[in-house]
Amino acid sequence: MNNKRGLTRRNFLKKGAMVTAIGAACAAGMVETASAKSGTYATLIDLTKCDGCKNEPVPKCVEACRRENEKKFPDPKKPIKDLWPQKTHDDWSKKRDVMNTLTPYNWTTVQKVDMEGEEIFVPRRCMHCDNPPCANLCPFGALNKYSDGSVVINHDLCMGGAKCKAVCPWHIPQRQSGVGIYLKLQPIPAGGGVMYKCDLCHDRIKKGQIPACVEACEKRLGMKKPLYFGRRDAILKMAHERAKEINGFIYGEEENGGTATIYVSKTPFEKIDSKLKEAKSNLTMGKVLNPLRDVNEWAKGFLIAPLISALGAIGLAFYRRKKEGKEEGK
Ligand code: SF4
Ligand code: SF4
Ligand code: SF4
Repeated sequence: MNNKRGLTRRNFLKKGAMVTAIGAACAAGMVETASAKSGTYATLIDLTKCDGCKNEPVPKCVEACRRENEKKFPDPKKPIKDLWPQKTHDDWSKKRDVMNTLTPYNWTTVQKVDMEGEEIFVPRRCMHCDNPPCANLCPFGALNKYSDGSVVINHDLCMGGAKCKAVCPWHIPQRQSGVGIYLKLQPIPAGGGVMYKCDLCHDRIKKGQIPACVEACEKRLGMKKPLYFGRRDAILKMAHERAKEINGFIYGEEENGGTATIYVSKTPFEKIDSKLKEAKSNLTMGKVLNPLRDVNEWAKGFLIAPLISALGAIGLAFYRRKKEGKEEGK
C-alpha cells in the first residue's frame, strides 16, 4: 500500500526544496519538459465498437484496471479525521465496489448514453493531456507528465489538496482521506489525503507492455476491439482514417490543448455531451480550452507553484520546531 512508502517530515522538506528549485528552473526555461507530441503513446477509443461489455458482470477494461492497480489503492487509517478547517473528508474505502464513476479504487468507468434509441458506451479515465494543468499547477509537484505521454500522480508527495481536480476540465483525480503524507503534517492547513487516477499503466509501458484495459478488451473482442494503444502519431492517423470511414468525429485531439486519449464516434460529441449533462453526469465531454494556453497563465503556474511549495516548507519547518519544542518541554 502506498502509505507504507510514506515520507518522513525531513524527506518532505528536502523534496519541497527540490520542487521549489525545479519550479524556479522551469520558470527560467532551464528544465527540459517531456515533448508531448513526439514519440509519446496514446489510446484510441472507438465508440462505434464498444458494447459496454453488456454480457459481462463487469466491463473487462474496468475489471483489468482494478486488478492491475489493486496494490496502489489506498488503505486509510481509521478513524479518518476531518480536514482542517473544512470539517469534512472524502472516504471511498467503504464503497470500493462502486464502478459507475471514478473513485480512488476505480480508475476507469464505462458510461451509457441513451441516444435516440441507440445506446453508446463511453469508457472514461484520465485524458493524459499534452499540457496538463493538473501537473503544472500542483503546488507540491506531485504530478508529472512523462515522455511516454502518461500523467502520473506521485502518491508519496501528494497532499490531497485537490488542486489537480479543480483545474482538470473533466475533474478526473479523486481523493481518499486518511492516507498519505498529510497525516504527518496536521494541523498544517494543506491537503487532506491522496489523489488517485489512471496512470496510463506507466509501469507496464516501461516494461514494453500495453495498458491492462487495452489488453483485456483485446482478449475479449480480438480484431473487433474498440481500444488501440500505440504511438500518438499512429493513433491520430488511425482516428482520422476511422472518422473518414464512418463520417464521424474526433474528441481529444484538440481538447484541453491535445491529449493522449483520442475518441472517435459517428455521433457528434456535442450531442453526447448534452446527453451526459442531461443525465447530470459529473464526467462530461464538452469542448474545453487549456487554461494554460495563455502565456501569462503559464508564467503564473510556474511561479505560483514553487512559491506555495516554499511557503509550505517554511510552514512545515515552523510547525516542526514548535512541536519539537513542546515535546522537549514535557
Ligand atoms: S472498452 Fe472493451 S472492455 Fe471496455 S466496455 Fe468497451 S468493449 Fe468492454
Ligand atoms: S485529464 Fe485532467 S487529470 Fe488527466 S492529465 Fe488532463 S488535466 Fe490532468
Ligand atoms: S491505462 Fe491502466 S490505469 Fe489507465 S484505465 Fe487502463 S488499466 Fe487503468
